[in-house]
Amino acid sequence: PKPIVAVVGRPNVGKSTFFNYLVGKRISIVEDTPGVTRDRIYAEVEWRNRKFTLIDTGGIEPYSEDTIMQQMKRQAEIAIDTADVIVFMVDVKDGITASDKEVATMLRKTQKPIILAVNKVDQVGEPPADVYEFYNLGIGEIMTISSIHGLGMGDLLDEIFKYL
Ligand code: GDP
Ligand code: MG
Repeated sequence: PKPIVAVVGRPNVGKSTFFNYLVGKRISIVEDTPGVTRDRIYAEVEWRNRKFTLIDTGGIEPYSEDTIMQQMKRQAEIAIDTADVIVFMVDVKDGITASDKEVATMLRKTQKPIILAVNKVDQVGEPPADVYEFYNLGIGEIMTISSIHGLGMGDLLDEIFKYL
C-alpha cells in the first residue's frame, strides 16, 4: 500500500495551495476565506519515482458547524491515526498563534514523524529571522517553503521520503 502523508494546520496557512502545487492541478479549491476547501482532499504525489498519498486534512469537513478549534483537533487526530508522516504547516507572516500551539500539543503526543513546514517564505535565500521562533513549538525539523511559488518543495519532499 502507498504511504500516507497528511497536512495539518489551522485555516489559511496554505494547506490547499501546497496540495494543489504538488498535485499540479487546481483540484482543491483555494479561497481567501479561512477554512474554505471544498473539493478533493486526497491526491497521489510522485517524486523521484516514489509515491505517496497526500491528504489535505483542512478539507475533511468543510460544512461542519463545529468551531475551527474542534475541527482542527479532529483533523490532527485523523492525521495521527492514518498518516505515516505528518506535515504540520504554519504561516511565517503570522508567527505562532494559539491554534498552532493547540495543534502542536496534540501532535507532540504521537511517535510518528512530524515535519514543521513554515509556509509563505516567499524569498529565495537565507530564511528570515522570524522562522526560528517556530522551534518553540517543540516539533522536529523546520522546513521553509513557499507554496505559491513552489520554493523549498524538493527539499521538503526529500525530507518526507526519509521517513517512508
Ligand atoms: P488553507 O486554509 O490552509 O488551505 O490555506 P489556502 O491554501 O486556502 O491559502 C490561504 C491563503 O494564503 C490564500 O490567499 C493563498 O493564496 C495564500 N498562500 C498560500 N501559500 C502561500 C505562500 O506560499 N505565500 C503567500 N504569500 N501566500 C500564500
Ligand atoms: Mg484549505
